[in-house]
Amino acid sequence: MSASCLFCRIALVEIPATIIARNATCLAFRDIAPQAPVHVLVIPVEHAQSLNDAAALPVLSDLLSLAREVALQEGIAESGYRVVTNTNADGGQSVAHLHLHVLGGRALGWPPG
Ligand code: AMP
Repeated sequence: MSASCLFCRIALVEIPATIIARNATCLAFRDIAPQAPVHVLVIPVEHAQSLNDAAALPVLSDLLSLAREVALQEGIAESGYRVVTNTNADGGQSVAHLHLHVLGGRALGWPPG
């Protein structure tokens, strides 16, 4: 946990968020600035800065598994969805706590900008 990390503070319920799902090691909450009708972030509760720093975390399967659960729960599993993790500057990462974006509810363009 990092006292200054936004997503650690959401995990500690120090900052409000709409938490919609959790498992043993991860939680999922709605993105504050949704880019699609469904836009949910899935994070490990334990802090890791990005996917680069997650090698030692035994939670990567929990992370992907919860993204899958969110898609089912939000009703976009059949229509389709995207799971993205932006990493560092060129990846467009703005919050330095590993997170998966689960996006769906509309047709998504490819390639991303
Ligand atoms: P990224 O740019 O990939 O690091 O994604 C960070 C995401 O966090 C963005 O989509 C933001 O809209 C989202 N975000 C920032 N602050 C909050 C917050 N307080 N609650 C929920 N989502 C947030």
